[in-house]
Amino acid sequence: MVNDKKRALIVVDVQNDFCPGGTLAVEHGNEVVEPLNKLMEEFLRRGEPVFKSRDWHPPQTKHFSEYGGTWPIHCVQNTSGAEFHPGLLDDKHIRIVSKGLGDEDSYSAFDGTDLALQLQRLGVEEVWVGGLATDYCVKNTVLDALKHGLRVKALKDAMRPVELQAGDGERAIDEMRRAGAEIATASQQPEFTASDQVVAAYLKGIDRTLLRDNLRLTVTERFERLMSLQRFADDLRAAGKHSTHS
Ligand SMILES: [Zn+2]
Repeated sequence: MVNDKKRALIVVDVQNDFCPGGTLAVEHGNEVVEPLNKLMEEFLRRGEPVFKSRDWHPPQTKHFSEYGGTWPIHCVQNTSGAEFHPGLLDDKHIRIVSKGLGDEDSYSAFDGTDLALQLQRLGVEEVWVGGLATDYCVKNTVLDALKHGLRVKALKDAMRPVELQAGDGERAIDEMRRAGAEIATASQQPEFTASDQVVAAYLKGIDRTLLRDNLRLTVTERFERLMSLQRFADDLRAAGKHSTHS
């Protein structure tokens, strides 16, 4: 069987304590929910793996300022603060990765977890990463993904920074870019990317044969054309699947 599921989505730490009202609230942290939900739906619809990481701390850890660390108490195991934001998409196919179970800071979703192993077993080559917070857990997850040899799209509009120092968010994005991540936006839907070979092939065809025609179209008309093309490609794929199974 051909494995074409080479991409995964990693939703980092979209938990109550990191959202407005939480003990370590990230300003506008809740705003990542909507774009990430759309992407999760899209990835799940296509049968591509979706991971949610969560900070999952014991009540006492050196990660907390009370015990010698940096942070106020947050995301303690089995408390409401550690629950995912109530608006965040839930689905039985989403894989949950828990981190920060000991005294380490464990900002990265790879740190002390089996995420790398799971991605390897799934044959994943590219990860899309968004969530909370840009300057800590998202950044460290992105940097670790790159160290594991994965291609990374860091979803700039689906992450928000803590900003202990003003500008930390932008500096984190620079650091991710310099390390080799592509800084992208969540609104780039997977079906419009070149990795969808069926669509890409037809787009090329359209470019060649209908170029002059296309130039006269409005943006809306071009979008509608792209959508009908997408439906056509979906039908083709579905037909292909049926014929190989029968
Ligand atoms: Zn933490």
